[in-house]
Amino acid sequence: MRVDRAAVERALLRVSQGLRQAADELNALDAVVGDGDLGTTLARCADALDGVPFVGGTVADLLQEAGGRCAAASGSSFATLLGAALRAAARGCRQAGVSHTLGDVALGELLGCAAAGVAHLGEVQEGDKTLLDAMLAVQRSRPLDGTPWTVFHAEQALHAALKALHHQPGRIGRARLHAGRIAAYDDPGMVAVLRMVQSL
Ligand SMILES: [Mg+2]
Repeated sequence: MRVDRAAVERALLRVSQGLRQAADELNALDAVVGDGDLGTTLARCADALDGVPFVGGTVADLLQEAGGRCAAASGSSFATLLGAALRAAARGCRQAGVSHTLGDVALGELLGCAAAGVAHLGEVQEGDKTLLDAMLAVQRSRPLDGTPWTVFHAEQALHAALKALHHQPGRIGRARLHAGRIAAYDDPGMVAVLRMVQSL
């Protein structure tokens, strides 16, 4: 993939549409182990993302702006984490000196920055069955043999990560309280990332 500012903006708009379409599904999944509002939270983020045109001139500006909108759209922890992920990606862009076009390697590094931001703020680790596992799955789906990275790679990796963690109890938040009671479920945050990727 090679993405520039316009492509990132289009991606944010597609993701917004995808999140609104997935809202009922995500609320239902979240009701299993959480408070059942993830879809509503993400629909609010979506409205904040595509409600007003972006003004930022570079990819970093755009990601920064998108992160701020998500964090402001809802007080829920997931929106805060999503905002932190986008702003960490913006910082990664600036540190790498990337302003206008990103190739596969730069995109992978950006995702790494976003994942580190989520791990730090959310105090989560790989394998905790959260958003972080989905982000790492996407990051690692980049082919290392020079084959172009596509959305299909990311989607396959997310399906595999969901399958690998399906029977594992959640270790974080309310999901932890259900450990032992619910034998198997998909983490709603991970499914949200899958729907975002599919909407691309
Ligand atoms: Mg909630």
